[in-house]
Amino acid sequence: MEKLIISAATTGSKTSRAQTPYVPITEEEIAAQAVDCWRAGAAIVHIHVRDENGLVSCDAWRYQKVTDLVRAAGSDVIMNWSTGGGAGIVTDEQRTAPVRNAPEVASFDCGSTNFGDGVFINSPSFLTNLAREMNEHLVTPEIEIFDSGMVENARQLIDDGLLQPPYWFQFVLGLRGGAPATARELSHLVDSLPPGSNWSVCAIGKHQLPMNVMALAMGGHARTGLEDNIYYGYRQLAISNAQLVERLARLASEVGRPLATPDEAREIIGVHARRGAAGATCPTH
Ligand code: ZN
Repeated sequence: MEKLIISAATTGSKTSRAQTPYVPITEEEIAAQAVDCWRAGAAIVHIHVRDENGLVSCDAWRYQKVTDLVRAAGSDVIMNWSTGGGAGIVTDEQRTAPVRNAPEVASFDCGSTNFGDGVFINSPSFLTNLAREMNEHLVTPEIEIFDSGMVENARQLIDDGLLQPPYWFQFVLGLRGGAPATARELSHLVDSLPPGSNWSVCAIGKHQLPMNVMALAMGGHARTGLEDNIYYGYRQLAISNAQLVERLARLASEVGRPLATPDEAREIIGVHARRGAAGATCPTH
């Protein structure tokens, strides 16, 4: 069976302490939970960072600090930095700036959508610029797909020479404003991917676990974590990101999906293709 890449999305831009006391907010808290997720089997950690008030931030130094703390703890987990910027809270330039620190992976929200009560704008010019910056700094884009039209956007960026294989797609399902978290929707999205693609799925709230299980069965990859869902069971808060990763790792074991190590995940999603297996650094750093 194909190796399973588990991603842990620890914090997100919206999950608050009022919703759950277990969401990590400071760089130290995010790094500690990231390391715990890696120990539990995650190959990728997807992070957002927050300011002193717990609100979404795009400060590159905060992302770098989390990454440095994770490395100092001896973890080689892949760090995936968000460029989402909290869906409209910050400017396109602020969202793009951290990519210049050359993280191994960064999110690439491949189109615009309603997002809860707001609108998440990812204009064609923003995507073009962001893709150019990622290419320059050897960053692997995690192409986030909120509905099927965004796969078409990705195809056009591929045609324009702005995205290179292997493509790493993350389906984000069950968001208010996006595609529903259903088996049919997931099958349709997977079938619509261009050749040379690998995919993972995450889903919001109660849809997280069923969609993760679908991915296990379909040979895809799976993302869990408090960014997408704060519950472990009905009305039962998850007490950490690692608790959610541990369950997914157990399920993977039961269905015969061995877990990908971070290095195996680097091979699958194209980090090695972009930087070489030895981890060549970005030419501008
Ligand atoms: Zn995110």
